[in-house]
Amino acid sequence: GATIGILGGGQLGRMLSVAAARLGFRSHIFDPGANPPAGEVAAQVTTAPWDDEAALAAFADSVDVVTYEFENIPTATLDILQRHHPIRPGREALRISQDRLTEKTFLQGLGLKTAPYADISYLASLQAALRDIGTPAILKTRRFGYDGKGQARLDSIDDAAHAHAAMQGAPAILEGFVAFSHEVSVIAARGLQGDVACFDPGENVHRDGILHTTTVPARLTPGQRSDAILLAANILNALDYVGVLGVELFVTSDGLIVNEIAPRVHNSGHWTQNGCAVDQFEQHIRAVVGWPLGDGHRHADVVMENLIGTDIDRVATLAAEPDTALHLYGKAETKPGRKMGHVNRIRRLS
Ligand code: ATP
Ligand code: MG
Ligand code: MG
Repeated sequence: GATIGILGGGQLGRMLSVAAARLGFRSHIFDPGANPPAGEVAAQVTTAPWDDEAALAAFADSVDVVTYEFENIPTATLDILQRHHPIRPGREALRISQDRLTEKTFLQGLGLKTAPYADISYLASLQAALRDIGTPAILKTRRFGYDGKGQARLDSIDDAAHAHAAMQGAPAILEGFVAFSHEVSVIAARGLQGDVACFDPGENVHRDGILHTTTVPARLTPGQRSDAILLAANILNALDYVGVLGVELFVTSDGLIVNEIAPRVHNSGHWTQNGCAVDQFEQHIRAVVGWPLGDGHRHADVVMENLIGTDIDRVATLAAEPDTALHLYGKAETKPGRKMGHVNRIRRLS
């Protein structure tokens, strides 16, 4: 079978490798860090910096298609790899989702709702934007933020100087605070032929800026559920996307507001591993190798709970729970805020 090159060897890369192996494919992980969690399960691992041209060329030689588990791959790395193989999902999805400003502009261009936002370069532009957008508001770095890192909340215009300093000079975006009732996400997939399939939306609860649980079914009216799926398909088609995409949404009385998109498998899609015949990881592999998409119909109610930091100490208790599937990432070191694994608690639909 073919070899799938995966950029990034964290837990998402690991679970993609497992899914690839189940379909008879080999995977080759490329990651700049030593001992990436995906390394143990992939057929091949290269640990080298993103700008190591010789390592990238050797990696490219060994694979048939390139995909990735995170969106912050340097453009120069992609330029080198693209000479050899298709990168799926494509460059446009990465370009747009690497920068919150570009992303919001793109989403609004599709006619989708986002939080009100403004581009912030200087303290003066922040103060002006705050007068326009109002408070509460959130200042976020345009690039590289995840798990709520690189964000500062502003409750009054007096917080401007402090929040601006917290960005440490990085380009930022100010977002008006969305008064949502709850948060949901759609894990959507698009195949090489343009076929689209979406998993049932999940409801997400965050704790300290990090995803804590995803519950399916989410609390959504039938109209909201179809809106969520249609807007995800709209995004996929606009990007001529191939692979799995995560779309985070705020549910409000004014409808669904797009928070952000992630051009990859997504933590809020981990429930699919035990709730569907074909999970998000297999769906992504199918898409990037050009197979038809699989059946992602939901056959169970699921609550996914992330095991963060010392949550992993509860593993013996969790392992004894009925109808609970454990997924551990094999990370050597436990750190506060580090994603160590997750559990899926299921209730089968009759
Ligand atoms: P992820 O780990 O999902 O990539 P992130 O660091 O990119 O997270 P966001 O998704 O932008 O951060 O924000 C994290 C959480 O903060 C959101 O899920 C939501 O709960 C809250 N939040 C972010 N932006 C807003 C907003 N404009 N209005 C209200 N709440 C917000
Ligand atoms: Mg994000
Ligand atoms: Mg998010």
